[in-house]
Amino acid sequence: MRRSIAAGGLFAAGSLVPVSSALAGQAGEKPAAPAAGQGPEKLPHQTGSHVPATLADGKVTQPRRELPVLHKTSVLVVGGGPAGTAAAFTAKRMGVDVTLVERYGYLGGLATGGLVLGIFPLYDRGNKQVIFGIAEELMKKLDVLKYGIIDRGKAPTYPTFDAEVLKYLLADMMLDSGITAFLDCWGVDAIVDAKGTVKGAVFESKSGRQAILADIVIDCSGDGDIYAAAGAAFEKVKTNIGLISRIGNIDEVDMAAGRGSEDPGKPVTGKPSEGRPSKGRVNDFGGHAGNSTPAPHMNWLNMRGPVGDALDVADLTAMELKHRRGTWSNVEKLRQKQGDEQAFLAETAPQLGVRLSRLLDGVKKLTVQEIRSGAKFKDVIGYSGAYANAPEFQIPYGSLVPEKVENVLAAGRCISTDFEVGDITRLIPVCWVTGQAAGVAAALCIQDKCKPRNVNVAKLQNILHQQGAYLG
Ligand SMILES: Cc1cc2nc3c(=O)[nH]c(=O)nc-3n(C[C@H](O)[C@H](O)[C@H](O)COP(=O)(O)OP(=O)(O)OC[C@H]3O[C@@H](n4cnc5c(N)ncnc54)[C@H](O)[C@@H]3O)c2cc1C
Repeated sequence: MRRSIAAGGLFAAGSLVPVSSALAGQAGEKPAAPAAGQGPEKLPHQTGSHVPATLADGKVTQPRRELPVLHKTSVLVVGGGPAGTAAAFTAKRMGVDVTLVERYGYLGGLATGGLVLGIFPLYDRGNKQVIFGIAEELMKKLDVLKYGIIDRGKAPTYPTFDAEVLKYLLADMMLDSGITAFLDCWGVDAIVDAKGTVKGAVFESKSGRQAILADIVIDCSGDGDIYAAAGAAFEKVKTNIGLISRIGNIDEVDMAAGRGSEDPGKPVTGKPSEGRPSKGRVNDFGGHAGNSTPAPHMNWLNMRGPVGDALDVADLTAMELKHRRGTWSNVEKLRQKQGDEQAFLAETAPQLGVRLSRLLDGVKKLTVQEIRSGAKFKDVIGYSGAYANAPEFQIPYGSLVPEKVENVLAAGRCISTDFEVGDITRLIPVCWVTGQAAGVAAALCIQDKCKPRNVNVAKLQNILHQQGAYLG
């Protein structure tokens, strides 16, 4: 797989600065001449046609302006988390032109940048796996990479993976996929025509504000940023917002009395709960050691956190700062326990743990009553495993399709469910399920020249079957 990255041309000869020349001069050496393409760009000072926002009478106004079109594509996926990567890979494998845009510099969303390492509701109440397709493909690929995943195929224990291994795997797959990807690129608006039909999205990046035109947009932003901008109806919800950390040197404390209920010799089984033995899930910073990961000497510490508004920058800022103070204090307390003195804070997640923010009002809103009563749907596109008190349940295609706007699909944690069901469909393997279905549906829209709400469901189900997905 490594060979394919190099072959992809990203690291083509001359594009990287040799370490020796980058460091030259620091140790008294003669500075090397800049490599081709390096150094100051000798361009005349340009202001271009940009007109800044103006302040007049206490009001800030941004002038109307034409946006450069960065790119045109058939399927545009916004967000590169579990749902977005699943959607992009599956749509591309159907032979259509796919573009993925992600606000951060890596793929995986909360599963990598959020350090959410447990793959929860994979199994039904009888411990039979009910999620396959791209989920199974990714877990299998993680399994052949060193320190990629533990506890795979050991129901009811859920598997735990390594964030860096998943980042690497997704980057490797992306480079070989033929998908056009734009990272460090934030979706800020929808593009609609005179009838309100979605035609793409607007992005901000270091290159400025640009447009990407698309036939179908799949909103995998987790927060429904694009469908909301396009005018789709949604429910805004508030949930616990945490910040996950990794704690190192944990081997030294594994055998220590101070490790509390954690026992590496006895993998925890039973119904999954966030943070497995789960002392560490509460936000009391009581010196918790977290749960094991594939990386030696390393635990991950899940955190529930207080309730906050994930769409309010003040709430987000407060949590970013306070959670880091609390996480530090947790490790300090942990180190006071006998045997845990050498534990250290290896990492706090670079992104906050937002569970839910917007839930789409879709063609179908999946409710907790339906999943409790074992409802079956003609347009089933996959399953969630059993989780907490809920049994395994079917997910209908209608929960990915906005009731109001055209040319948009949703996948991942912002699909159309009530709050209780959303607390399950947000989990990683279920996001892989909805991402895969949205990817196939979007490709069918292109191939059959139809709107998402008119997709031939039997055909969609047939293709998902062929791709190894489980529909019951
Ligand atoms: C604290 C916490 C603990 C959890 N624990 C577990 C667990 O143990 N097991 C489990 O299975 N699940 C767990 N979950 C749930 C799970 O991690 C997430 O819900 C899941 O990753 C959601 O996938 P997604 O693709 O829908 O969204 P995300 O993972 O949020 O991905 C969305 C992606 O879109 C990008 N994005 C967002 N807005 C924009 C924009 N405007 N423009 C461009 N890109 C954008 C983001 O950067 C991100 O990469 C947990 C969640 C939290 C918060």
